[in-house]
Amino acid sequence: MPEQSPLDLAEGHPFGPQNLPYGVFTTAEDSTPRIGVRHGDHVLDAGAAAAALSSDHAELLAAPTLNPLMAAGRTVWQAVRAELRAWLTEPAHRAAVEPLLRPLDDVTMRLPFEVADYVDFYASEHHASNVGRIFRPDSPDPLTPNWKHLPIGYHGRSGTIVVSGTPVVRPSGQRKTPADPVPVFGPSVRLDIEAEVAFVVGTPSPTGTPVARGDFREHVFGVCLLNDWSARDLQAWEYVPLGPFLGKSFATSVSAWVTPLDALEAARTAPPARTHELLPYLDDSADEPDGLDLRIEVRINGEAVSNPPFSAMYWTAAQQLAHMTVNGASLRTGDLYASGTVSGPEPDQLGCLLELTQGKGPFLADGDEVVLTAWAPGPDGTRIGLGEVAGRITPAV
Ligand code: MN
Repeated sequence: MPEQSPLDLAEGHPFGPQNLPYGVFTTAEDSTPRIGVRHGDHVLDAGAAAAALSSDHAELLAAPTLNPLMAAGRTVWQAVRAELRAWLTEPAHRAAVEPLLRPLDDVTMRLPFEVADYVDFYASEHHASNVGRIFRPDSPDPLTPNWKHLPIGYHGRSGTIVVSGTPVVRPSGQRKTPADPVPVFGPSVRLDIEAEVAFVVGTPSPTGTPVARGDFREHVFGVCLLNDWSARDLQAWEYVPLGPFLGKSFATSVSAWVTPLDALEAARTAPPARTHELLPYLDDSADEPDGLDLRIEVRINGEAVSNPPFSAMYWTAAQQLAHMTVNGASLRTGDLYASGTVSGPEPDQLGCLLELTQGKGPFLADGDEVVLTAWAPGPDGTRIGLGEVAGRITPAV
């Protein structure tokens, strides 16, 4: 019996030709990073395929990162995606493409793009309310007065963004509980996760020109899963009044695969009803829906602990992009902005241990492995799998 071709996927495979996420890989024989496209449980060497098939986009696909392709803009993204689909599905290309598919187990995935700026938002009303109740128990309203009027965010550290699979060293720092007379220094004892979705900017924008919500799809190339590792003890002591800093900046993990926004058209869904009137640059009441129906699963040491629904997020990625640029700040190719912890209304839909344990813990132990996965509805009843983001905690140094 002939061996089954990697081009022939099982019906309904979540990494079928409806998906086509991009990554960057190396192999044992060749340490040069190359752009790959996931097809089933294989990765297509996209640069080699483009060269073999004389694509107009061969140069973009021969780059060692996704940045040149991301910078090329939406018209090129759509043309490349159509080519990739044809290469992977049309019988005429089979002989050329088949030898360029390698099993995922035979490649090493790298950080797929050079990260420019990194911003983390706080867009789940459920998460913000739960955290407000834990961090500010005496406050009458768990949400801060600005929360329903603008998408709150902070600038994170782009230089410590790591690809899925990278070990995460337990951070050390200052902490002080109300019972401590003075701060103490040492390894974090409340190390947590935050299950998030991140948006990758492709097309840049000039300084002084805000990007409107309606231009979201011209600028955002795709979506990653992201784990915003958080040392709650460091965070609780340091965050007043300027927000998160060392409690977050030691590591942020992203999936190795960037799912093109075009693969998520069928997942578009209306965000929750707005309870407050919004200023015009944020008012999406007459827009096409920009929420996304992504179903996330959080597993710790193989055990499913939560299923956060991204559709419950109050602020959309289009609103966040508009807010991030409304002051005239420019966008750079490689800018990454994350949603904030995804938490839904139910006890089994919470996106971090702080909420799952009502602030009491236990938090992460050395050796614990956290894996986030997600899927979204695709066209014609298919599913779109998002690349996983995994990380294991190693002891403090
Ligand atoms: Mn976060």
